[in-house]
Amino acid sequence: MRCRLNLLLAVLTVPVAAQRQQPAARGAAVITAEEVRRRIGIIAADSMLGRATPSPQLDQVAAYVAAEFRRFGLKPGGDSGTYLQRYPLEVERFDPESVSVRIAGPVPATWRTGRDVLLVEGQPATGDSAGAGVVITGSPQGAAAFDSSAVTGKVVFLAYGPGVNAVAVKVLPLRPLALVLVADFPDSIWEKLPGHAASVRVRNPSEEDGSAIPAVFAVRAGTTRTLFTQAGAPPDSLRVWGERPLAAHSLPAVRVQLAVHQQLLERTSAPNVVGILEGDDATLKKEYVLFTAHMDHIGTPAAGEGCTARGADSICNGADDDGSGTVAVIELAQAFTTARERPKRSLVFMTVSGEERGLWGSAYFAEHPTVPLANVVADLNSDMVGRNAKDTLAVIGREHSNLGGVVDSIALAHPELNIKPVGDLWPQEGLYYRSDHYNFARKGVPILFFTTGLHPDYHQVTDSPDKIDAEKEARFARLVFYLGLAVANTTARPQWNAQSYKRIVGGGTN
Ligand SMILES: [Zn+2]
Repeated sequence: MRCRLNLLLAVLTVPVAAQRQQPAARGAAVITAEEVRRRIGIIAADSMLGRATPSPQLDQVAAYVAAEFRRFGLKPGGDSGTYLQRYPLEVERFDPESVSVRIAGPVPATWRTGRDVLLVEGQPATGDSAGAGVVITGSPQGAAAFDSSAVTGKVVFLAYGPGVNAVAVKVLPLRPLALVLVADFPDSIWEKLPGHAASVRVRNPSEEDGSAIPAVFAVRAGTTRTLFTQAGAPPDSLRVWGERPLAAHSLPAVRVQLAVHQQLLERTSAPNVVGILEGDDATLKKEYVLFTAHMDHIGTPAAGEGCTARGADSICNGADDDGSGTVAVIELAQAFTTARERPKRSLVFMTVSGEERGLWGSAYFAEHPTVPLANVVADLNSDMVGRNAKDTLAVIGREHSNLGGVVDSIALAHPELNIKPVGDLWPQEGLYYRSDHYNFARKGVPILFFTTGLHPDYHQVTDSPDKIDAEKEARFARLVFYLGLAVANTTARPQWNAQSYKRIVGGGTN
């Protein structure tokens, strides 16, 4: 049944697309390598100081994108007739001394911040909280052989080693109270972990509904050894992952009490930029195709988003992450407003912020959409699309709906673009959960996430404009132009595959 549908769609699309090709080609032609290079040079310039959330430089980039949207004649899609949608943030002073971790159970203890334990990441609930202990063992690549009851509201202990990310992305959606990474590190590495010094942190009050990344602590392996032995946890379970499926071992006698107190310094906000091109079909124009990217990056070391200086260079420019995607969205807006014919459905061009902090801007838009989310038929998200092999493009999430078949047919119909769509080349990285499309997918919007992949400059000061392959990126953006046009002009809405829908929208785990 399904593949015939796919076939049908492909056949329909190409002749229609071919007929419309000429007027469309005029649109695609405005996307050039020179333009891409020029814009990346603006957005990822040193003067933008790596566009941390929030920062005056991020607001500067938002103003630049809004001015381009206005120049192209897009309709404002933000707050009260503007292109900007702002979401609230709080700046707090976090003092390690204000965190304490107490263990109740066979080996009562108080872990001292800095010496035994560090708050390395996440948004701890302010005040006191407590939860039973759980240890996760097994292989990061293995499926999670446990359900939410084993983890929700509990304090989960994991080995702090290779693959910890792949496990964390399986555990975090199950809403543990906190993650505690057991670090068998020498002092030299322990000292480098975040959380030793007082710092200013940015908190997203909209995350109170439980979508915040819970507190992530690091604890020294020596500190936990006796506790685990006494509590009956498999002794070596936290040293090596092994080949076994991921399992959760509850530590019934262990209760972890957390106390975190922070000082509110300032209430502020950060921007999303939204521009709309209205469709020309009386019915279909009430539906929308979304083009997204994030315009923020991790800033400088002072922003506390993980940027590390190298020599005299302390600016994480984020040219590829995600200056490249932001430029693609601007180029697409220009192309669609230049094309002689309007697409049938309406198009929404959006550059969000707060992505590096935890997908904050897209989460806020998904909760406060300025167009009805039920009418959004697809989100085409670009994050890091300016590097790596000349002809390869990873299309993440392609297996979850028939959009995967559409991008293949478009690539086939446009051999001149020489772009080969492939699947997720880095499954161990959990990329599906790590960019803004995820906030739309979990609300039921079919998505495609485009990336040319990770590279050694990822989140480094060396992710600079000179490293971007603007010629490749221009071809990529033209491909997304033709894809967006096909989705906007095909009467049938893109369809999820039922299994994926149940798992991703229905709140299951991967
Ligand atoms: Zn990114």
